[in-house]
Amino acid sequence: MPEKSPPLEPVSRCPLCGSPERGLHLASTFEEFSSGDFKITDSHYGKRWHFQRCRQCGFVYADPCPGAELLNLIYGSLEDPEYGSEEEGRGANFSRILNRLERLNLTGKRLLDMGAATGLFVSIARKKGWSAEGVEPSRWAVETAERQYGVKLHLGELLSYPEKELFDVVTMLDLVEHLPNPREALEKARRLLKPGGILVVVTPNVDSFAARLFSGRWWHYRPPHILFFSGKTLPLFFRQGGFSPLKVYPFHWTFSLRYLLSRFSPGKWICDKLTPMSKLLGRLKVKLFLFDSLEAYARKEGS
Ligand SMILES: [Zn+2]
Repeated sequence: MPEKSPPLEPVSRCPLCGSPERGLHLASTFEEFSSGDFKITDSHYGKRWHFQRCRQCGFVYADPCPGAELLNLIYGSLEDPEYGSEEEGRGANFSRILNRLERLNLTGKRLLDMGAATGLFVSIARKKGWSAEGVEPSRWAVETAERQYGVKLHLGELLSYPEKELFDVVTMLDLVEHLPNPREALEKARRLLKPGGILVVVTPNVDSFAARLFSGRWWHYRPPHILFFSGKTLPLFFRQGGFSPLKVYPFHWTFSLRYLLSRFSPGKWICDKLTPMSKLLGRLKVKLFLFDSLEAYARKEGS
């Protein structure tokens, strides 16, 4: 990143429906940011952009917002060594998605993971018999994927993936909330899918009970997240991109107790100071039934 807080770009219309009508959803809580704020494991909960809610469709988006060029720069140079520490929990979430895809009885098993991070999902999919590929902008993540899982991801911006062979499934797991223009990624997914192919999106649900309960302290309000879908706006997004919404599940994450505690300062102290305790906590898995994310499946319409 060239400087501490580069200029942000104004967003005058709803990125989903284009309406200029909106009301304040939550005010910004910070003025300066750095590329470190954009790690997947970043725990600056409550540190958030200035969010507007569209009066037309209910979509929630940051205005102003870091532009695509700046975000490409940030994600291209992102390093997040802590991400790998929760492999087991993330793996359980990913296996569940693959099991659901199996039940859709697709004719082929070619899968592309957009925003593949360190390749864990691609690696698990391959073990389950999928011909899986991934595209990821962070050089560090791509190198980690190769070293850790022997998975060679396509290094580059999401939209740069070559449109040669088509896929049966495209996945965007915790991706769309990071994108200033998610429609572009949706159109890219459409071009990469076979007719009748499946798109899977996992993203935080801004209208979930947890989001309302925790309000500005909701854990998904942090610098990398610049827009928020809900059970109402995600199907709208799919239809606009030429997809039929199939099914939406409430998504639950599995983490270790160590990871969860390390998200908050007293717990972080325990994990940092008491190493044996930290190891034990690392083995204790916790399922977070907050149901504050959406796991949505949609089918490509037309040819
Ligand atoms: Zn709107």
